[in-house]
Amino acid sequence: MPKSTNPATGETFEELASHDDEHVQRALENADRAFAEWRETSFAERSSILNRVADILEAQTDKLGRLAVLEMGKRLEEAKAEVNKCASVCRYYADNAADFLADEAHESAAEKTFVTYQPIGLVLAVMPWNFPYWQLFRFAAPNLMAGNVGILKHASNVPQCAMAIEEVFSEAGLPQGCFQTLLIGSDKIEALIDDERVKAVTLTGSEPAGAAVASQAAKHIKKAVLELGGSDAFIVMPSADIDAAIETGVKARLQNNGQSCIAAKRFIVHEDVYDQVLAGFKQKFEALTIGDPMEESIDLGPLATEDIRDELAEQVKKSVEDGAKLVIGGEVPDRDGWFYAPTILSDIPKDAPAYQEEFFGPVALFFKAKDIDEAVEIANATSFGLSSAAFTKDADEQKRFIRDLVAGGTFINRMTASDPRIPFGGVKHSGYGRELSAEGIREFVNVKTVAID
Ligand code: NDP
Repeated sequence: MPKSTNPATGETFEELASHDDEHVQRALENADRAFAEWRETSFAERSSILNRVADILEAQTDKLGRLAVLEMGKRLEEAKAEVNKCASVCRYYADNAADFLADEAHESAAEKTFVTYQPIGLVLAVMPWNFPYWQLFRFAAPNLMAGNVGILKHASNVPQCAMAIEEVFSEAGLPQGCFQTLLIGSDKIEALIDDERVKAVTLTGSEPAGAAVASQAAKHIKKAVLELGGSDAFIVMPSADIDAAIETGVKARLQNNGQSCIAAKRFIVHEDVYDQVLAGFKQKFEALTIGDPMEESIDLGPLATEDIRDELAEQVKKSVEDGAKLVIGGEVPDRDGWFYAPTILSDIPKDAPAYQEEFFGPVALFFKAKDIDEAVEIANATSFGLSSAAFTKDADEQKRFIRDLVAGGTFINRMTASDPRIPFGGVKHSGYGRELSAEGIREFVNVKTVAID
């Protein structure tokens, strides 16, 4: 059953009834009917609704932000910034979708040839709790602009955020059925993907969830986009501005209380500056204040669920048992809620969880590299490939990282961040397909070739 539990206290403050099968069928019918009309609307009509969505989000930043804090524990400032970023992605696609999907002339044996981008219909979005608004809007904005319609199955711990999103679309005047939220468990996803009216699916979340959804979609030859976990490398070389690298690295690790797929998780530092960078991190981690994410003065809130916290604590414990060195942290604070102390592990053996697994929380993993070859080797020694960051002022080193880091992105002298204007997505077990930018809006369209004599 979907329920809202405050991660800062552990108290459940709302339980919502799941939608039953009849409701689900009605939603599918609504979506099917809505698509028949929505696909015929002009870009201008869609833009005006998306701009209204953006206006509403901006007007409700505080209200929606507080709801996210209560349901999943991110800091209020970050929650409000997330809502504003959702408004920006709506405006971005409202402004640019017509250009991204304009017919393209081509040369061929025919007299006239062009490519036209057509909507495919209903896309199912299975979304996680960590950015309860952003993950959804970065899917919904391009897809609604492309003429598709959507159904959201959100994570079970953020049902009120999920319902609030539906309300925002409805308030903005989006025709009924174009975007609907279903409060259902993940056990209902298989049947939804089987349904003929669902044309494609997108999932952001864990590897097992991604594999389950993508294999079900594959059975029906339906397209899937997957944005899964990451264990991004953050490399620091001697030529870097070390203070900037430390400052940015700490921020990149701790954003969203450490629960971001593109957080920097593995810090791979050249041996010449390793001690300096590690000491800088330790100093900053020691100074962090943990507490209620509603309070502006705190640096770090709780983890979103008890399971996430317990799993992280277990990964740290097992890594230390396997020989990793605990530089700082490693304990569950003695207080209500699902907090975890900011933690640093170093000297991590290859068979420890910290070498291979994603750590979804405030834990920085340190690795020493003797040279650039070893830095690249450690960075790529993971099944994930979401993004990567490298701090170096050396142009040749920059080129080497861009060429050899196996990831969906390489950010030089800055942390990875998503932006509506640039593609976002991973390789390897971090998933496939791209979101945002022109690439994102072209994922769920029929790229139709037209030739006329
Ligand atoms: P999940 O992958 O389990 O949840 C993400 C979404 O997928 C939720 O809506 C969930 O629904 C749904 N889901 C889960 N299992 C299935 C399934 N078999 N079939 C269809 N849908 C499914 O993430 P968790 O919340 O359990 O987090 C676990 C780990 O996943 C984290 O520690 C982190 O490593 C990773 N993760 C990565 C994220 C990212 O941004 N890439 C975001 C969140 C998690 P329900 O909530 O009802 O189970």
